[in-house]
Amino acid sequence: MIADPKEQFLDILQRKLIHSVYQPIVSLKDGSVLGYEALTRGPENSLFQSPMKLFPYAEKAGVLYSLEKIAREMAIKGAFFTQTNEMLFINISAAILQDPYFAPGNTLDLLQERGLQPGNIVFEITERSSIEDFTTAKRVLDHYRAQGYRIAIDDAGAGYSSLQAIAELNPDFIKIDRSLVNNIHLHKNKEYIVETFVTFADKLNISLIAEGIELKEELQQLTRMGIHYVQGYLLGMPSLEKAEIDPQWVELIVQHRRIRDTSAGA
Ligand code: C2E
Ligand code: MG
Ligand code: MG
Ligand code: MG
Repeated sequence: MIADPKEQFLDILQRKLIHSVYQPIVSLKDGSVLGYEALTRGPENSLFQSPMKLFPYAEKAGVLYSLEKIAREMAIKGAFFTQTNEMLFINISAAILQDPYFAPGNTLDLLQERGLQPGNIVFEITERSSIEDFTTAKRVLDHYRAQGYRIAIDDAGAGYSSLQAIAELNPDFIKIDRSLVNNIHLHKNKEYIVETFVTFADKLNISLIAEGIELKEELQQLTRMGIHYVQGYLLGMPSLEKAEIDPQWVELIVQHRRIRDTSAGA
């Protein structure tokens, strides 16, 4: 075991000692799995096991770009992601979007190798660290989109981005931050904010994902409110295994879902 944090980090990077775990994202229409978010992990029992240590450290050390590239590679390469009808959600640091030359690059090659389409990949951009150079960010995101990738705004409602700024980025998904989900059944203010997201997303044809569902009561409330997808420990932990959704939650979803699809003319 290497003692010096810097050496330990460089060793991890050089030897690509990182992997992904995958957390299911579940549809509130029928309890099916839309896809998985890849969450990066460093070596177990190392200082850098958590992505909250790994990525900020890489940014400070000026090697964020390399780490991001390895993380994407690992997320796609694993045996986990093989189905063309599942989406893979991959986090991208906001800082990366400041680089006008950044491109998904090897991601496309990796996908092609595996017979997968860019349309199955969703890049998650956090709104938490305010995207400083908005024009650059938009240019990079539009570049992704032109190649067929999809975009999600992560941690929405937790940072300082306005709804206008979010609309400007024209995402396919908005992920509502865990802080708004936590005990939503007990806090009217949270309910009103999430309702606003539902109205906004419906008008702009954006899909909403609520993150961090831990309680049955939260799941029930979010299902009733017309959120499209949910993710959280209640439904599935980040894991190396494909998640099986507990039938009791599927039943709850079907029972409480708010059907807004009137096109069937029922
Ligand atoms: P995030 O993208 O918002 O990911 C969700 C985090 O919440 C994950 O933590 C996940 O394990 C955790 N989580 C999921 N469900 C629940 C729940 O029900 N309750 C609670 N308390 N937590 C839940 P994790 O894996 O530690 O990741 C933390 C953050 O690190 C991520 O937040 C993301 O911003 C960043 N991250 C992870 N992987 C990558 C990556 O490959 N690239 C970049 N740039 N950032 C990454
Ligand atoms: Mg995320
Ligand atoms: Mg998130
Ligand atoms: Mg979050």
